[in-house]
Amino acid sequence: MSLAAHHVAAGTAAVLVSLWLLRGRWTHSHPRAALVLWQLSSLALIVSVVGALLSFGLEPFGRGLLPALVDLPWRFQELDLWHLGAVGLGLAVGGWLIVNQLLCLRSTARARARHRLLLQLVATQESEEQGRDALVVDHPVVVAYCLPGRTPHIVVSAGARRLLTDDELDAVLAHERAHARERHHLVVAPFQALRRLLPGNGLLSRVCSTIELLVEMCADDRAARSRGREPLASALERFRANGNGGGTPAGALAVADAPVSARIRRLRNPDEGRLPLAWPLACAVAVAALVTSLSLFAVPL
Ligand SMILES: [Zn+2]
Repeated sequence: MSLAAHHVAAGTAAVLVSLWLLRGRWTHSHPRAALVLWQLSSLALIVSVVGALLSFGLEPFGRGLLPALVDLPWRFQELDLWHLGAVGLGLAVGGWLIVNQLLCLRSTARARARHRLLLQLVATQESEEQGRDALVVDHPVVVAYCLPGRTPHIVVSAGARRLLTDDELDAVLAHERAHARERHHLVVAPFQALRRLLPGNGLLSRVCSTIELLVEMCADDRAARSRGREPLASALERFRANGNGGGTPAGALAVADAPVSARIRRLRNPDEGRLPLAWPLACAVAVAALVTSLSLFAVPL
């Protein structure tokens, strides 16, 4: 079996795991487990696609991928048009993905820095006797969000404070703190960068929306453990009725970003079903696909 065929097999396994995740009803009951699997299978798919293209293109050299890539500048004239095209496409896709991720990281970091600066000018710290650590923006818009970073900020508008009861506000702030503590921005960032690369309403957009929804559910679960399910569910209902204030700043994670109906439903009617027995198997398949594709880059022959 050639190196390219190994990569294709690994990529196929990753696609099968992703399709199982897309169709699975259990993911809303176990969002954290689903996110782990999404990350593994997505990474495996990307590495295997790039690996398959490069392996096929560099096959005539009869060497491993990395040594063949080192040889490429001196031996590219030995390749026919098909192999040269595959190498070019593999390098373009790999480079495109890496550059896009870096550009997105940079633009998001800049947007967050601008936003932090703005908050210093317009936001006030909640009084300590209320036991809250949020920044309050005196604006009627109804919004609450976490601005991630080395020092994350939880921001709530005066409109949201007026709209919510004390219990609801505490639940919303617990949700935002969960985003900050669990570093959810690092989970969604690679998928959001991919969506920016291929905009539209295709499969990739659906996957990104799924990841964002699962991240929100993880934060919901953590908030519900400390503040109860009902206050958060009723707060989400109020946000929905107010149209979530018309949007979230770039680079932030809001309380009511993802479609809230499914979240309200699961908060009020939690499904205590067990993790599917196939989950460990799917994890093993995704890990095997990822390790196989990565290790094939280092195989010398
Ligand atoms: Zn959120």
